[in-house]
Amino acid sequence: MINQSRLIQTFLDLVAIDSPSGHEAAISQDLARRLAALGGAVESDEHGNLIARWPGQGGWLMLSAHMDTAGADTGIKPQIRDGVIYSDGTTILGGDDKSGVAAILEVIQSLQEDGAPHPPLEVVISVSEEVGLAGAKLLDKSKLLACRGYVLDSGGPIGTVVISAPSQDSLRITVFGKKAHAGSEPEKGVNAIRVAAEAIAAMPLGRIDAETTANIGVIEGGTATNIVPDEVHIRGEARSRDNDKLAAQVVAMAAAFQDAAERNGGRVEFKITRSYNTYRLTEDTPVVAHAIAAARRLGFAPVLKASGGGADANIYAEHDITCAVISTGMVEVHTPHEHIAIADMVDATRLLAEIVMTS
Ligand SMILES: [Zn+2]
Repeated sequence: MINQSRLIQTFLDLVAIDSPSGHEAAISQDLARRLAALGGAVESDEHGNLIARWPGQGGWLMLSAHMDTAGADTGIKPQIRDGVIYSDGTTILGGDDKSGVAAILEVIQSLQEDGAPHPPLEVVISVSEEVGLAGAKLLDKSKLLACRGYVLDSGGPIGTVVISAPSQDSLRITVFGKKAHAGSEPEKGVNAIRVAAEAIAAMPLGRIDAETTANIGVIEGGTATNIVPDEVHIRGEARSRDNDKLAAQVVAMAAAFQDAAERNGGRVEFKITRSYNTYRLTEDTPVVAHAIAAARRLGFAPVLKASGGGADANIYAEHDITCAVISTGMVEVHTPHEHIAIADMVDATRLLAEIVMTS
């Protein structure tokens, strides 16, 4: 039986441990201790990624979540109002993804208490998911025994199963102009900020179509108001669940920079890095079919969702580990309004237990 008060206490304890991406030492140690206390054979790599295994019958099943939280928020003070857990309003809550971690811990403990049969379990808790899935990328996937699993790292009604996620390209652009005194001879300069501004204003951004998005997120440049700036650094991204559309979008963004640079006599360096690759499951993919059936048995309406964001599942898919991402009930993640209803946390955990027992 899922123990609601224990589940909530675990969650509250986890969110109180600071764990912005890249600063996971404390949470990694805490989780290693918890996994070992549940009888798991725990391995940690030099980055803090954790793998823990329990024997069982049948084929290995991975249960995964990430231990880091988005942004730089620390000192999270969870509060419960009307059955919903919030932060104090000044930080994120960290339900992304500690609700997933807490659900996994509670499922393992309750299965043990009930003596319920289950497949051999491989729990993978990654670091630095929020910074380009960096922890899952660094994890030595050749160590993993499972070729199927569930990643608890989505919002949406309980019963939500993510069946596809985009590819993402990360973009680093440097615009070069020419320095000049802004007051005495501006005509000798090429204003790199102006080149960047013209390019960004001209390019397609935001929602491009149902499966494609693009963003310019960071811009830095210039040194003083009286100097025509000769260098601007820009970071952006583009995503699509269709790799041809993604390529076309990135070409359009590069062309906008190139055109603006040529018009103004500047120069552009445009670097593209593939952050992760798209994947696509169907309702017949065994992990999806299992989740749908388990949701129906518990009375939750299954919702198959195409996501606009990547998850560790994208990285595992590249290594032939088929994972469905499922909802933990987290809402408005990455904002100070983030919250999670206790009833949803309990239902997500009950659903995970049902999935595990029947996998
Ligand atoms: Zn997450």
